[in-house]
Amino acid sequence: MEDPAKRSAHNAYHRRYRAEHRERIRQISAKNHEKAQAEKPEQIERKRHRRRDRERRAGFVTRKLKFEVFERYGPHCYLCGGTATSTDHYRPLAAGGATDVENLRPVCKPCNSRKGSAWPFDEGELRARILAEYELETSRGDGFTSPNVISCADEPEVAS
Ligand SMILES: [Zn+2]
Repeated sequence: MEDPAKRSAHNAYHRRYRAEHRERIRQISAKNHEKAQAEKPEQIERKRHRRRDRERRAGFVTRKLKFEVFERYGPHCYLCGGTATSTDHYRPLAAGGATDVENLRPVCKPCNSRKGSAWPFDEGELRARILAEYELETSRGDGFTSPNVISCADEPEVAS
């Protein structure tokens, strides 16, 4: 199908088909997955791991991993002590940091963007700079309260 007009009509047809048969398609793929899971569980397992590795190399933090990070370090941003909503690669991906519980920290979005991809960085210095900026601008804009900063050198908190 070299003709771009034909190609686009073809794609549109399939888009419409998928939209109209969403439930049917979902059922078929669930059934296929069940069958594969029963017949070749190791292959499915390998596929799941390959996907996870690929995602982690790309820095993708799954909900499960984010949950583990928050469970380990607590719900506060490790830089400003406010409420964390996200995770930060302590050592950035670009600097070879891993996407795992050891290298991720709970962080708030404003701190995350202020930190950027600095590496290596002086944690105390960065924290002081960020807190000073917040005091000047109150730029977190979410009712930011007094710092309750955790140190990355701290032993991981044990969830109770
Ligand atoms: Zn923060």
